[in-house]
Amino acid sequence: MAEKLEKRKIELPCPKGCSSKIQISYYDICYRREAKCSRCGSKYKFGSSEASNLKSAMNYVDRITDEIERKSKELERKVQDFQKANERLLKSPDLEIKN
Ligand SMILES: [Zn+2]
Repeated sequence: MAEKLEKRKIELPCPKGCSSKIQISYYDICYRREAKCSRCGSKYKFGSSEASNLKSAMNYVDRITDEIERKSKELERKVQDFQKANERLLKSPDLEIKN
């Protein structure tokens, strides 16, 4: 299964410049709109309209990803159905022999 964008994490350097790195998921970026350094407490605060733009783009991609996964499973099943039907067809056809 493809990883959802909302679960994907990015790493940001501490805004203050302490040696710690901030790991944050896109979900938290979009919904919490801040990324906090766990060592010194400095944080990034993201703009609400930028976060909201990112959120709708992210949700759209995640929704389409789900749909593609669902459809590709359906396709797999339908291809199997087709193969079975094809085997059945070729198993015992009526023969008409001409001399
Ligand atoms: Zn820090």
